[in-house]
Amino acid sequence: MFDVLTLTMEGTPPAQPVGQLPHLDWQWLAEGVLELSPRQPCTRAVVLSAGIHGNETAPIELLNQLVADLLAGTRPLRVRLLVVMGNPPSMRANKRFVQADMNRMFGGRHARFPPSDETVRAQQLEHLLAQFFRSATASGATQRYHYDLHTAIRGSLHLRFGLLPFQPRPHSPEMLRWLESAGLEALVYHRSPGGTFSHFSSEVFQADSCTLELGKALPFGGNDLGQFSQIKRALEALVSDVPAAERQGEPMKHYQVVQDILREQQDFELHIPADALNFTAYPQGYMLAEQSGKTYRVEHTEEVVLFPNPNVGLGLRAGLMLVLKS
Ligand SMILES: [Zn+2]
Repeated sequence: MFDVLTLTMEGTPPAQPVGQLPHLDWQWLAEGVLELSPRQPCTRAVVLSAGIHGNETAPIELLNQLVADLLAGTRPLRVRLLVVMGNPPSMRANKRFVQADMNRMFGGRHARFPPSDETVRAQQLEHLLAQFFRSATASGATQRYHYDLHTAIRGSLHLRFGLLPFQPRPHSPEMLRWLESAGLEALVYHRSPGGTFSHFSSEVFQADSCTLELGKALPFGGNDLGQFSQIKRALEALVSDVPAAERQGEPMKHYQVVQDILREQQDFELHIPADALNFTAYPQGYMLAEQSGKTYRVEHTEEVVLFPNPNVGLGLRAGLMLVLKS
């Protein structure tokens, strides 16, 4: 059988775009996008994506191994599955992105960026998800899930955490249980829409969606995949539609976003060091950022920072502030 990661890195599709194995059907829909369908009826349609940021290698390798097991028949497939290697040119360049960050472009926001491989790819992935969920629904797989796998660039006080997109409906208890079993230390609840892949699938297809940050990125082959054993087991349980293992260790911490720090003026200054760890706490009153006409201070007794980055473009987010959810 072919190896999805090898074909994606080489930019060559399999010799045939579709194929049948004794236990499943597969279809290569586009570069790095593979659909797997079990022979027996199933109720779930699952999208697993990695490499939306090309240098976040560990989840790409994890997903590739999972697909290899499914194709080899050593692991049973009991869901409709769409596997997405997000940004192949940036994977080949071992860079987060080539022109612009794809994970700001979904939900049609690609139209606001100068045209590039990434705007084209974001649009293509939107179409492929629409097609996948439509055909899965027609076959009876009506429960929709999307987990978008990442690793953080910076260090973090919580090594593994999930980011839940803002959505008006409650997040499903079933997904929250799965996230517990995946060994995440924390969950972050967004309070506003965004251009992420997981926000797109939640908003447009009402999927149970989450962005997973699974540790720190290292070059291909350099990852200690042992660090990822809990998420690996949880993904295996997901695609085989069996209950995930009980959670090991302490319960997850739940954080609510309370401030989006936006860089809106040229004189914007962020008073959080560029190397601050994610989830570092700041006390009430602390001046987080200032620019003409607007300052950001810690409003709650304590707030923790996520993804601080003073070097974003105008109008973009330079950081998020969170509090523990009550
Ligand atoms: Zn990422």
